[in-house]
Amino acid sequence: MHQYIGGELRTGSSPVGHRVVNPADGGTVAEVVLGDERDAALAVAAAKAAFPAWSRATPAERSTKLHEAARILGERAQEFAETESRQTGKPIRLTTGFDVPGAVDNTAFFAGAARHLEGKASAEYSADHTSAIRREPIGVVASIAPWNYPLQMAAWKILPAIAAGNTIVLKPAEITPLTALLFAQACTDAGIPDGVVNVVTGHGPVAGEALMAHPDVRMVSFTGSTPVGKRIMEIASRTVKRVHLELGGKAPFVVFDDADLEAAIHGAVAGSLINTGQDCTAATRAYVHRSRFDEFVAGVADLYAKVKLGDPFDPATDLGPLVSHRQRDSVAGFVERARGYGAKVVVGGEAPGGELAAGAYYLPTLVTDVAQDSEIVQDEVFGPVLTALPFDTDDEALALANDTPYGLAASAWTRDHFRALRAAREIAAGCVWINDHIPIISEMPHGGYKASGFGKDMSSYSFEEYTQVKHTMHDITGVARKAWHRTIFEL
Ligand code: NAD
Repeated sequence: MHQYIGGELRTGSSPVGHRVVNPADGGTVAEVVLGDERDAALAVAAAKAAFPAWSRATPAERSTKLHEAARILGERAQEFAETESRQTGKPIRLTTGFDVPGAVDNTAFFAGAARHLEGKASAEYSADHTSAIRREPIGVVASIAPWNYPLQMAAWKILPAIAAGNTIVLKPAEITPLTALLFAQACTDAGIPDGVVNVVTGHGPVAGEALMAHPDVRMVSFTGSTPVGKRIMEIASRTVKRVHLELGGKAPFVVFDDADLEAAIHGAVAGSLINTGQDCTAATRAYVHRSRFDEFVAGVADLYAKVKLGDPFDPATDLGPLVSHRQRDSVAGFVERARGYGAKVVVGGEAPGGELAAGAYYLPTLVTDVAQDSEIVQDEVFGPVLTALPFDTDDEALALANDTPYGLAASAWTRDHFRALRAAREIAAGCVWINDHIPIISEMPHGGYKASGFGKDMSSYSFEEYTQVKHTMHDITGVARKAWHRTIFEL
């Protein structure tokens, strides 16, 4: 499996082969011939050719095919889960319990959404005209996805686009291309016409930039890091494409003095370690009221030490490796540098040895005694690392929560209704959880504030973003010399 273009699996044009590696043991999962600008051009041409018929299919036709796709995904759940676990190192419990059911539910959601496009009522907003709103698909969409949730990111990008009548070319991350290719095949098997869903695997600066720059692409939708997002915006601006950006995150986790501490400790452990911390909404910065700080740190450290790292295919494994050795080394680098500027590593802070030494594993790591403006508090680490800092007042806690360039997600832990409402209002993030951290749901939007980007994934909000609004205005007087002409000429 290399490229999926016009309903066919094909090889890539690039001379560069790519070994998809299982980060749990360094073994080869697949060899992929990557695509380059030639494959990007072919895929855009296939998507462009498929657009007229797909955009004119009725909502019911699109919906029926998406329901069928959801059924097929459900039937192939085990294959998707195992492939995802192999290419990312995710524990099989996570792929079978979260990644795959999430993608199936998303498909079913957008099958429903396809029949629910809405707009303002047609009416005579001027006495002489009937106005109507059309919500139309945009055309060929090019999407670029990251490696942390390859299947779910493919689903989040492809589904709202095609449900709304667009056609799409998706470029998954080069290190995790396999489940996006399987997803595109499932779409074809569900009867979605050839060319509606295409997948080009390749390097970002090569295949990715070729897609972003292509003149026949009308919208770009990107999920990934903030620096690459800026680059995408720059390229897209040259041809004035619509841009949708889901970027990095650095979620705060605010524990007030009245919080249920057992809930907060368990929430912090699950919220920081999900997907081995490679989650853009993962809890990364705990701010805990000084009166509960020591208890919180001891509780998290205790559970971190008990988390079971291991073979992703062992159902008893809690935590898998990072996605690659490179990512593991990057995470270790943040912790080493933090030690260098005086941070205290309460637990973790190293790669495990023994049977896990060959994999890209890193122990759950809790860091205290760091300054708010230090690198480990401000930048995305994207690994199983949580920092904890104390605060004294609610004002201080909320200011600290907002004090990074990011604004994707956050949580506040309190039993006080008014405190919860204040946190929900004042934390500048696209999602604020109260007394929980992480759950997402197809009906609700996911997306950022500030340097975390703009545009929403999932929900009817994302569906609408893949449409453009047209106003059609019809004269209903039949009069040649219209009253308003006299403001221009008197004849
Ligand atoms: P990345 O930005 O390095 O890569 C993302 C994608 O962009 C990959 O497919 C890559 O090939 C491509 N790319 C890289 N350079 C490119 C270029 N010059 N032109 C076009 N495409 C290019 O991110 P990553 O390391 O794969 O993923 C981790 C990042 O993704 C984190 O920052 C994380 O927060 C973010 N993320 C955000 C969300 C969200 O919903 N906001 C969800 C998941 C991940």
